[in-house]
Amino acid sequence: MSNTGKVWLIGAGPGDVELLTLKAVRALGEADVVLIDALVNRAMLRFVKPNARVIEAGKRGGHRSTPQAFIERKLVQLARQGLTVARVKGGDPYVFGRGGEEVQALCRAGVAVEVVSGITAGIGVPATLGIPVTHREFCRGVTFVTGNTRDGVQPDWQALSGSGTTLVIYMGLSNLVGIVGGLREAGMPASMPVAVVQNGTLSTQRSVISRLDRVVAAVAREGLQSPALVVVGKVVTLASHAVHDPVHGAARITDQLARKSA
Ligand code: SAH
Repeated sequence: MSNTGKVWLIGAGPGDVELLTLKAVRALGEADVVLIDALVNRAMLRFVKPNARVIEAGKRGGHRSTPQAFIERKLVQLARQGLTVARVKGGDPYVFGRGGEEVQALCRAGVAVEVVSGITAGIGVPATLGIPVTHREFCRGVTFVTGNTRDGVQPDWQALSGSGTTLVIYMGLSNLVGIVGGLREAGMPASMPVAVVQNGTLSTQRSVISRLDRVVAAVAREGLQSPALVVVGKVVTLASHAVHDPVHGAARITDQLARKSA
């Protein structure tokens, strides 16, 4: 298969284009065809060749979506035409992104694939609020978990609540009541800090900083919607020490309390 093209499986980061890696920018620039997921900021397309073909291919909970099998077939088909294909996903392709499945399909078909890691929302989004997912004073680690599983089985809230780790919950907003209920039943204190962040790192970012017993009401009051990330843990108390500045693309660490009293 010497005339076979190649697939770049690219993580585009949580939204802000400046959080793309240099390698992602190079790979986008080499692509003849770009298959782009629903959650990816279209501003990335500025790095694509002017004559590259762009195909919208994405899954989005509750919305019309492209079947996974179709996407995998399309990637194989395009690469076999000798094309360089950029498959662009939000965050990191291997974190709740079905990147593993796509790479398996490509390998089975004998198509060359290279993965470009991206900044996963679970790290990049809390950072915009000054929330470090780990901090020696507050936790022993961090657990990434999905709030929305294929089989509908709830995560083991008992184990998670006793783990001493920060919980970063992807796709959790639609099941927030169930998540909070599970954690409360598992004995997590009502006062445990919780952050919910919608559209993290984008200019449309909105967030709620609350606690376990109040977060459902706070999210309803603010009308937060998906895509949103839920962060549960004492590290959330550090949230007021940073402000995200999407124009400059990085978390600008400013002590808001100090500014207020100035
Ligand atoms: N591969 C992606 C995750 C895909 S699953 C990654 O590594 O980030 C999609 C879920 O990720 C969303 O439902 C939401 O929980 C989270 N997410 C992705 N981008 C986000 C953003 N900009 N702000 C908040 N949550 C985001």
